[in-house]
Formats: sequence, C-alpha cells, structure tokens
Amino acid sequence: MHETNNPPLSEVCAWQAREYTVRHLCQREKLLTVDFVLHARGIAESWLRSAVVGDHLGIIGTRMSRELPEQPHILAIGDATALPALARLVNSTPESSCLRIFLLADQESLGRSFPSSNNADITWVDPLRDPISQLMQLLDDSPLQHGTWAWIAGEASQVGMIRRLLVDDHFLEKERIHFTGYWKLNTPAIH
Ligand SMILES: Cc1cc2nc3c(=O)[nH]c(=O)nc-3n(C[C@H](O)[C@H](O)[C@H](O)COP(=O)(O)OP(=O)(O)OC[C@H]3O[C@@H](n4cnc5c(N)ncnc54)[C@H](O)[C@@H]3O)c2cc1C
Repeated sequence: MHETNNPPLSEVCAWQAREYTVRHLCQREKLLTVDFVLHARGIAESWLRSAVVGDHLGIIGTRMSRELPEQPHILAIGDATALPALARLVNSTPESSCLRIFLLADQESLGRSFPSSNNADITWVDPLRDPISQLMQLLDDSPLQHGTWAWIAGEASQVGMIRRLLVDDHFLEKERIHFTGYWKLNTPAIH
C-alpha cells in the first residue's frame, strides 16, 4: 500500500473547501461554469485572485441539490452569492408558475448576466441601502399571492430576518419556506 503524509480528504475539505453553485455544465466540452462573488478575504477569494490557467482545483459534489416543487406562485429572494441558483431557477421554472424574484445585489454590475423570462417578475434591491427595509416596503406594496412557496439564500442572519418577515408579517407557513445561509458575516466557511 502506498502511504502519504496527506491528511484524509475529509480534513482537507474542512479547511480548504468552499461551496459554489454550478451555473452551467457542458459534458461535451468538459466545461463547468461557476460565478464567484469576490469579497475582501477568504481562501476562495485569494485563490481566485492568483489563479492562472493550468492550476488544479478539486471538485466534490453535490452536497445539496433540491428539486423545487411545482407551485403556481414562487417567491425567491437571494443576495449576490445566490444569483447562480436564482438564474437556474428562472431557467428551469415551468411557464405555468409565476416567479417573483428579489435580488439583493448590485444591478449595475450583475444585471447583464442574469436571465429574464416571461413568467419571472424580477426586482433588484440595492444591497447597500438597508435591503431588508426595502424588501418590507416592496412586499407591503404588493402582498404575496395565497399559497406562495418561498426560497431564500444569502448571508445567514439576513436570511433569518427575511424568513421571519415572511412568517410574521405575511403569514407564510414555515413549511412553505426553503432557506439556506450561504455565508456568515465575519465567519469563514459556515458549511
Ligand atoms: C449551497 C451553496 C451554494 C453557494 N453558491 C455560491 C455561488 O454560486 N457563488 C458565490 O459567490 N458564493 C456561493 N456560496 C457562498 C460561498 O460558499 C461563501 O461566500 C464562501 O464562504 C466564500 O469563501 P471564501 O473563502 O471567499 O471566504 P471565507 O473564508 O468563507 O470567509 C472569509 C470572510 O469573508 C466573509 N465572507 C464570506 N463570504 C462572503 C460573501 N459572499 N460576501 C462578503 N463577505 C463574505 C466572511 O464573513 C469572513 O469574514 C454558496 C454557498 C452555499 C452553501
């Protein structure tokens, strides 16, 4: 048996792995597309800034992947890290469902890469101007349809606030909300 000093994969993953959504996979060209949000620090951030063609990157997947239920009214809310997942949602939701999306992200820099669809009503919310208050106002101005099913992802505490807003102020049943904290302010790799 060949022995190495490398730590087991599970240990490597614990300190060097980060999770990203597959935006697109082309089997024929062996091309995997991922959109990264670049922020101030972190292993993914520093890898990205120094990555050059030919660098190796390990891929392990998939830890989580949910089939969204077919529902007539879907509400989806996410920040910039959730844009790839929301883009996939736009592309995969059947025409029979009405999709209402709130993107807590900068439209000027990210708007061009986000898909549109006849059945998707997309609202960009400035992430730097108290996005939760803006969201509250937008939802008050145009309340949820009865039987809405919701999906939320982004910064963990913000996701919690949005979930509470939907449950407490818009009486959405908890069972009808799928939510995931994708990252946590001041905390590396929460998953
Ligand atoms: C299922 C799932 C899918 C995801 N898909 C994507 C995706 O497609 N694209 C994407 O960009 N991200 C995605 N994320 C989020 C991504 O995994 C985190 O942002 C990750 O922590 C970034 O790693 P890092 O090494 O750069 O920073 P870390 O080492 O994890 O964190 C270092 C510091 O940066 C801060 N930080 C971490 N992430 C962010 C951020 N996004 N914005 C601002 N500050 C941050 C932390 O608070 C911490 O202080 C996904 C997460 C999950 C769970």
